[in-house]
Amino acid sequence: MKLHVVAAILLAVAASSSSPPAAGAVTYEVNNEAASTAGGQRFDREYGAGYAKQVLAAASSFTWSIFSQPSAADRRPVDAVVLAVRDVDGIASTSGNTITLGAGYVAGVTGNDFKTQHPLFEKNKISSIPRSEAFFYFALRLLCHVDALHSFSLSSGDLPSWDILLLVPTVARAHDATKAATLQVTGVLYHEVVHVWQWGLQDYGAHSWVYEGIADFVRLRAGYPAAGWVQPGQGNSWEDSYSVTARFFDYCDSVKPGFVADLNAKLKDGYNVDYFVQITGKTVQQLWQDYKAKYGN
Ligand SMILES: [Zn+2]
Repeated sequence: MKLHVVAAILLAVAASSSSPPAAGAVTYEVNNEAASTAGGQRFDREYGAGYAKQVLAAASSFTWSIFSQPSAADRRPVDAVVLAVRDVDGIASTSGNTITLGAGYVAGVTGNDFKTQHPLFEKNKISSIPRSEAFFYFALRLLCHVDALHSFSLSSGDLPSWDILLLVPTVARAHDATKAATLQVTGVLYHEVVHVWQWGLQDYGAHSWVYEGIADFVRLRAGYPAAGWVQPGQGNSWEDSYSVTARFFDYCDSVKPGFVADLNAKLKDGYNVDYFVQITGKTVQQLWQDYKAKYGN
């Protein structure tokens, strides 16, 4: 017994001395400064500071993996990520290492935002459905958590067809992650966490679409697209920001795996349109044309 204890202590000492020092030990802090508002109360009730801290940590790790930054030395020198829920307009914003989440946004987000974001729901809008499908849908409702489907307020106008089978894991996930609406908040937090970690924000004012596109690209890869996002191939210009740029970067990353990691690394020195050529061998205009051609628009 004693030997085991000594061995365990020795192992622990060895592990602590060989592991990297405190660098990389990021702390996560959540302050609800709007606890008296409807949104602040909903945040406490349905999301919670503890869960928010987990999301901040998971989003940070995910961002580092997308950015190919396994060691703290590769990352922006940030030792704390702070989330403040505040009674301000808008969805969210980030300044330095502090993310502000709008309490009014939290108050207004609904499970139906999740429904409208999913292409299958758009695709399958039909005014009347065959009886067999209605039965199938009914059976599925019994099979899944009834609450999970209820929370999306499916009505006879948008009952999906057999494709709903593909939605089951997503719906189940939505149900598991506390409530469907919380997925929206989680998606927002992923986007904002990227702003904490991405390089090059000194050029944000002049080239905001690059930075917003990267933030939404990470959110997309994490599986939390927002309500109202464009579909792949949509948009008039890669500089449209947000989901248009994110979908385009998703294409660039498929053409040249690691594209976003490379782009982020280069942005440390500020933005330069030549980065696209340096990373992919093609100009951004050529890439955009190829992307639009791929989706036929
Ligand atoms: Zn943003």
